[in-house]
Amino acid sequence: MRWNIFLSLFIFITINELKAQDHQFYIPDYVNFDADSVLKEKIYSNLNTLFGSINGDIRSCRLVNNGNYSQNIEFFECLKGLEASKKYNATDFYKKQLINAYRILPNKYLLNIAYVGYADGCPIINNICTIIVDEENDTIKFSSPLEYRTTEWKSKQVGNILYHYKNEFNIEVAVKFEASSRYIASNLGLTPLDLIFYKCDNFQEAFRIIGFEYDLSYNGKYKESWILGNTIFQGFNNEKISHDIFHVYTAKMIDTRDRNWTAEEGIAYSWGDAYYPKQNGEIISRNELAQILKDTVNKTPDIDLLKLFETRSDIYDGLSPNVKVKSVMSSLICDEVQKQKGNKGIIELIKCGKGDANFFITIDKLIGINRGNFNKKVKELIERYK
Ligand SMILES: [Zn+2]
Repeated sequence: MRWNIFLSLFIFITINELKAQDHQFYIPDYVNFDADSVLKEKIYSNLNTLFGSINGDIRSCRLVNNGNYSQNIEFFECLKGLEASKKYNATDFYKKQLINAYRILPNKYLLNIAYVGYADGCPIINNICTIIVDEENDTIKFSSPLEYRTTEWKSKQVGNILYHYKNEFNIEVAVKFEASSRYIASNLGLTPLDLIFYKCDNFQEAFRIIGFEYDLSYNGKYKESWILGNTIFQGFNNEKISHDIFHVYTAKMIDTRDRNWTAEEGIAYSWGDAYYPKQNGEIISRNELAQILKDTVNKTPDIDLLKLFETRSDIYDGLSPNVKVKSVMSSLICDEVQKQKGNKGIIELIKCGKGDANFFITIDKLIGINRGNFNKKVKELIERYK
């Protein structure tokens, strides 16, 4: 009897030490993974290697499933650095913890990993992600849950865009959006991209099919979208993403350091929309924003437009507090650049480098608008706007 107790205690301590020491992640005793111990240990040790590669070089990792490979790589890249906290100034603030593991199909398993920190007497969850494990011919491969979670979804190819959706599909909106994607590509001198588009009910659903059950930064967010490579996860429950498609193209053609965001936002508003929805769920258009700006200028003719451009304004708060008047003015300026200098001028402006100083230097060179004459010239653009 005594010997049994001693043996059990020894095994208990040894297993717990192994759990604590062997892996980069913690496995609480309550995890009730119904698989044989050899397979379990194999999955855990491979998962450990996977996490090493996620924070190192995931592309050289042989454990990533080849089916849907680029999608899997992009998902695992999103897990990089989830241990870090800026607020608590630590690179390993959130500890990884396996919180659930179960079989979903023969030789296929689902793992949930939580990133948990502790501060001011409270536990804080940064993220809970889902990783799929396939066991094939004695080897273990990992992937995102995207395919598994969307197998029942329907698909439709519209021009260059492959849509995935659950129920309703508005072909007219899809055809219009596909045309606007080609219009943007042609303006920028690019070949239209082959896109994959997941139409999701809301952002949390989009995030979940990507592989995130929860993320602290997106707590409560429901109207957002995510883009991974050429795949759009749209959380507005419609078939277009007219604003962000412009950013998808510019990301392909301009080095991150050279992107001018004041110009990009302006053109994304102008060629697409303002990204954010109104209370009724409809996405706000640049035209309605320009009209509000025109009304504001008509009511207050001595308004300082440069100041309005450079500071936070509340003129659009009735529609959405996220809309920036700066982007609306930039969109009118960009329209003028396109009118006078064509798409060549637009391309020069979006790649003029970071910051408003570069934006002003370039619009001065292209169409003669600068800080000195901004009020007069931009007022003319607004007044002319129909
Ligand atoms: Zn944008």
